[in-house]
Amino acid sequence: MSENTITLNNGVEMPALGFGVFQTPPDVTSDAVEEALRVGYRLVDTAAAYLNERGVGDGIARSGIARDDVFIETKVWISDYGYDATLHAFDKATGKLGVEQLDLLILHQALPSAFDRTLDAYRALEKLLADGKVRAIGVSNFMPEHLERLLAATSVVPAVNQIEVHPYFQQTELQRVDAEHGILTQAWSPIGGITSYRDSEKSTFEDPTLLAIAAEYGKSAAQVMLRWHLQRGRSAIPKSTKPERIAENFDVFDFELTPEQLASIDALDTGVRGGPEPEAITLEAFDRSIPEA
Ligand code: NDP
Repeated sequence: MSENTITLNNGVEMPALGFGVFQTPPDVTSDAVEEALRVGYRLVDTAAAYLNERGVGDGIARSGIARDDVFIETKVWISDYGYDATLHAFDKATGKLGVEQLDLLILHQALPSAFDRTLDAYRALEKLLADGKVRAIGVSNFMPEHLERLLAATSVVPAVNQIEVHPYFQQTELQRVDAEHGILTQAWSPIGGITSYRDSEKSTFEDPTLLAIAAEYGKSAAQVMLRWHLQRGRSAIPKSTKPERIAENFDVFDFELTPEQLASIDALDTGVRGGPEPEAITLEAFDRSIPEA
């Protein structure tokens, strides 16, 4: 088994390091995905809300890589929550991606103020799993209380919880809860992109600790952060539209951080979230229509 493989709680194997496409414009998505597959990525993470699933599907088709060799992950947006609506969201996603089956389908957010709808959406994922239309199901941005409510009301433990994790925001308690239930933590903004594109006070790419470690190996801060995720047992899905960075972010399998270096990165946590507060996600504020395929 390669170093880039993680086994999910239902036995399905998933590449640990994948490719993200949040904010990748639809017209450049297929090129970015094709380039990522060319340099070795075998997991692509998209979402209905990114409006670029079609580009992801085109890029995979153009790559010439067999469908079974690419792990496709996408997310259902909150506007499509509800049992029937979420079943239909699967049809929309697969229609745009041009595939019959998804490897991993996750709920993009909990809807704390309409949790019954969140549960109905998850029950639709369970149905898709039982019918063999998806190989694994999961969630994203679920906090411990959301996971507890979900686990109490449904049957299938999510395979994955995709959450914001980078050196400046690590959510260690949430990661502990994920692990306790056998849920894999998958890091979004794994190299702290959100600390640069969201006007934070400091960006992970300029962090002195990360740069010092990077210099020891002749690597970049981004590569050090990705090693840190992999060695801590997390999946990570860095995004770039630039060929040189796409390659750089996958070139992380030829060095290993020491336990002391891992600990010094753990110590960079500021506790400051970059993304939206999960508890504050409402349909009123975030409703958006997801187009048909
Ligand atoms: P990342 O941590 O992947 O960082 C991406 C940003 O960093 C982009 O601005 C990119 O710019 C830049 N970048 C990429 N590689 C490098 C590098 N080697 N050196 C310097 N800069 C670099 O952040 P994302 O927020 O995009 O998260 C990754 C993925 O996680 C998303 O694409 C998406 O798939 C998922 N995600 C999920 C969320 C959720 O709610 N579930 C929320 C946010 C993201 P450029 O493209 O110009 O290279």
